[in-house]
Formats: sequence, C-alpha cells, structure tokens
Amino acid sequence: MRVRDDQTRDSIALPAAARIAAFGLTAIRLVAVLVALLGLWGAPVLEAGEDRAYDLDHVVQETGTRLQWDPYREIGTLWNGRTSVSFRPGSSVVLEDYRTEHRIAGIERHNGSLRFSAEAVESFKSIFAMPERSEDGPTVGAIFVDPGHGGKDPGTIGRHEIDGELFEIHEKDIVLDIAHQLVGLLKQRYGDREIVMSRGDDTYLTLEERTEAANSVPIRDGEVILFVSVHANASLNSRASGFEVWYLSPEVPRDGLVTQASAGVNDPQLLSLLNTIRDEELTIESILLAQSVLEGLDSRVGAFTGNRGIKKESWYVVREAKMPSILVEVGFVTNKEEALLLADGEYLNKLAHGIYNGVNNFIEDFERRE
Ligand SMILES: [Zn+2]
Repeated sequence: MRVRDDQTRDSIALPAAARIAAFGLTAIRLVAVLVALLGLWGAPVLEAGEDRAYDLDHVVQETGTRLQWDPYREIGTLWNGRTSVSFRPGSSVVLEDYRTEHRIAGIERHNGSLRFSAEAVESFKSIFAMPERSEDGPTVGAIFVDPGHGGKDPGTIGRHEIDGELFEIHEKDIVLDIAHQLVGLLKQRYGDREIVMSRGDDTYLTLEERTEAANSVPIRDGEVILFVSVHANASLNSRASGFEVWYLSPEVPRDGLVTQASAGVNDPQLLSLLNTIRDEELTIESILLAQSVLEGLDSRVGAFTGNRGIKKESWYVVREAKMPSILVEVGFVTNKEEALLLADGEYLNKLAHGIYNGVNNFIEDFERRE
C-alpha cells in the first residue's frame, strides 16, 4: 500500500508510442515519451531573410543520434551510444551526459517545431565526435532497500477465514522478510557497495526519515544510489491480485537536485534548467529500473499471479528521493489466494529473487558490463 492511495487503480502502462529504443544498445530499452515528437518533425527549415536553420530530422541524421523528447519538461535528449546531449528550446545551455555543460546558441521553437542554427548543428556534431569517456560512466555506488511501514504502522492488513479460523497477514511483516532476503542477495553480489536498509526490524519510520536516510548514504562522485521500496497491496475488490512496479510521475518535478553550491551558478533560470535535466535523467533511470524489476518478478512469480505492469505516480517517499527510485507492490493481501502465497516463505524467497534479478540486470545495463 502506498502513501497516497486514493488514485485510480487503472493501469497507467506506458503507451506503445512511448516505447522507443535508445542508447544504441540492445541491452537497454529506453522507455520514454515520444508523443509530442509528432509535432516536431518535418518542419520547414528556411525562411526568407533569416539565417539558415535546420529541423530536428536534419540534426538527428547529421549527428547519427536518436531523440527522446519529454513534452512535460520540454527537454530533448539526443543519444548516440553512451553519450547523450540534453537541450531545451530557447536555452543555450546544453548538458552532455546530464552533467557537462556546453553552450550552444540557436535552438528555438518556431511555429510548433524545433529549429536549429547551422552553428548548433555543428556543435552537436562536435560533441558526439569526441571520444567516449567510458571510464567516466556512472556506477551504482549504493542500493537502499526500504521495507514499507513497520512498528505501529502495520500497512495494509489481510483478514481471511481459512478452515473456520481467522487468518491475518500484515504488510509490514511480508515486506520486511522480502527486504532482508533481497539485501542478503545484493550483499553477496555487490559486497563492495553500500547496501542499506531503511529498517531491519519492526520499527516505525516516517517517510521523511526514510528519504533522509537514503539521501544521506555516502557515495562518491559519479556514483548513484538506487532506491527500492517494497510494499504489499490492498483492494476493496477481493479478487484483485498481482504485482506491479511504480516509478515517479514526470509531471511532478523534484526540487533541489542541483543546488547553487553544487553547480556553482547563481542564475535561477539556469539552476532551474539544470534541475529539470537532472530530473529527466532520474525519471528515465527509474523507468528502466522499474521495467527491469517487473521483468525479474515476472520470470519468478509470473506463473503464480498476474503482472499488473509499470505504473507511475508521485508518492512522497519517492518524490523526495534524489536518486532512481521505484516502489514494488508484491501482491494483494486482500486476495485470499495471494495472501496465502504471501504467508509462504518460499514464495517470499521467489519475490526477493525476482526483485534482485531485476536490480541486477538494471545495474549491468547501467554500467554497460559486457
Ligand atoms: Zn504499503
């Protein structure tokens, strides 16, 4: 059960148009929003009395890249192999690999299309022509595993009558068991990295305490933390069943990802752009992590229960986490059959392995290990 649980339960699975391949890597499928792209392609490029300008199609061809356009943030990202360049029409600041700042003038929105100056096209080409700095690629420095609820907060409760006896199951216990097993697997595989739990026993923690703990895990430059929250679901419909994975909705921006101090800039507009682009990166990584964990679960428990897909929502615990973040709902305690599965240690072991495999595959793709 999530914190804000009043939203519709309908699947918000990503539309087909939102799935595009990117990175130029078969191992990684970038799920992104491409819908608004329709309005950006194929624009007329020359106007009398103006400097030569090019449309997006031309830029993509010239640079040999793929484009991902986020209509919510108005951020475009061009990808070629491991290199990305993010831009926003109207701004001359572009970011290579979400971090390295370049100045490229002449990226504008014009009559609903994107328009690029000749200089802008050349600048893009020169960035993509630079040798890849593969040794500088980001790595996962830490994994934060957050079993939901705990202590005085039992989470959602399933009550069923089985053979005339009352059978009761609490979300906080299930998710703690899974989290312990998940952490054990992660420590075995990633002994050199920080594997941290929000709670290791039946302790009550506020949401703020969880995110603060996650945000304060020490990592080095160029490292990221993964945030994996584990929950169990409830529904008024006692037949609802299955697992699902949530990631942060892109309509809700995270603030403070890039600060005046960390970026060394004073210009509030620039800071806001840097924040938006960093937020874009986190969202893409969160979607990829969610997808990977969903697949991991599907291969372990797909034969026992339904795959409800990837969903997006802004819920507090993840909104404030400044890292790729997902929330896994392992199943419904309000469904009698599933409650019995969730009371079975072997089934919890399968769930832990499923999540672990998903996290592991994400990390291998993320760090591009061959
Ligand atoms: Zn919950």
